[in-house]
Amino acid sequence: MNASAGPLTLAARHLVPIEGPPVSPGRLTIEAGRIVALEPGTPRPGDLDLGSVAILPGLVNCHVHLDLPPLGGPPAGVVDLASWLEHIVNRRAAWAPRQAIAQVEAGIAASMRSGTTLLADITPAGLSWDALAASPIRAVVFAELIGLRRERAMATSAQAFEWLGQIRRSGFDRGRLRPGLSPHAPYSTVGWLYERAAAAGVPLSTHLAESPAETEFLNAGTGPLRAFLERIGAWPDDAWAPLGPRPADYIRKGALKQADWIVAHGTYLDESDFWQLRPQAAPSGQRVAVAYCPRSTAYFGHGPHPFAAMIERGIAVALGTDSLASTPSLSILDEIRWLHQRHPELPAQLLLLMGTLAGAWALRFDDEVGSLVPGKRADLAVVSVDPTSDEPAQAVVAGRGPVIGTMVDGTWVYGPCST
Ligand SMILES: [Zn+2]
Repeated sequence: MNASAGPLTLAARHLVPIEGPPVSPGRLTIEAGRIVALEPGTPRPGDLDLGSVAILPGLVNCHVHLDLPPLGGPPAGVVDLASWLEHIVNRRAAWAPRQAIAQVEAGIAASMRSGTTLLADITPAGLSWDALAASPIRAVVFAELIGLRRERAMATSAQAFEWLGQIRRSGFDRGRLRPGLSPHAPYSTVGWLYERAAAAGVPLSTHLAESPAETEFLNAGTGPLRAFLERIGAWPDDAWAPLGPRPADYIRKGALKQADWIVAHGTYLDESDFWQLRPQAAPSGQRVAVAYCPRSTAYFGHGPHPFAAMIERGIAVALGTDSLASTPSLSILDEIRWLHQRHPELPAQLLLLMGTLAGAWALRFDDEVGSLVPGKRADLAVVSVDPTSDEPAQAVVAGRGPVIGTMVDGTWVYGPCST
């Protein structure tokens, strides 16, 4: 289906707009790549009748590393973060760039097959940009900044800022694909790199409060993360001091609180720091959101994650998969269903919001996508549901039906009419 081919009406058992009540059965009309109408009703002649499906906004993966392959590591719950990081560092050193690009391309295809239309990719020096530019998907590409040792910090920042300069000179920084920066984590990245990133005027993301070891490291400079840094030769000989004793200091100190932040994980953020993450705390209109990666958190035996308490305190919590090195698939729908199985008490509608609009808001794409609203772009995920289902959001999160179609800008990028 070509976006310029005139209006198209999709008929479905359920429409789940996220902003607004479900419509069952419903008809959704698209023209010139945008949603023009949602209405109740059964299929009419000329409609594309998709049958027993729920049409959702395209899913949003708010934290992924597309270039990291599966590692085939130890079973879930017995992996410590420092050992895993060491494994990644060693594996990464052996990869040819071409292998990493092929992994990125496979990750983009897997994302589209699972209904994802917008993602936040963390990548060395903008590595995934060209592959994402060649695909139809929307993304923020966060170039990674890393290093406690001065020479490593200087090298990664030079690469990342050179890449950012190229993107800006090309004028290609506000559309479907946008650049960001990602200081890796407080235990791996010196404070001035966080401050340099915050001055760049682009969205930022960082791994924060992912493990108890991080808090120990910031408080005392000891523990398994310190031992890991020494083993791989990354511990600085020159003086190092954290920005503060708490992980939240890395998004709130000085100018850091002026920037937009996607906080990956946030599992061990102290409850007394939650107010730092509330949008209301930001006079500049700063957006801060937590990207909770449910199966990755479980893989490391971390948690329980305080996402429900965060939501109750007004924090935007979106969902991410993290990489294939710590989660079995790049599917946000799989993450939602996994979460539903463990938290059946949570409203299905809330889980779907976390996987759609919350992420779009965090990435500042919410004016265009993230919900099914007339005027927004037609980015859709079409999920097969039980034909007898009468609770639309529940049918998606409690069901096992696959994604059968994904649309970006009114064009199928996966099934049912993409060929
Ligand atoms: Zn990550």
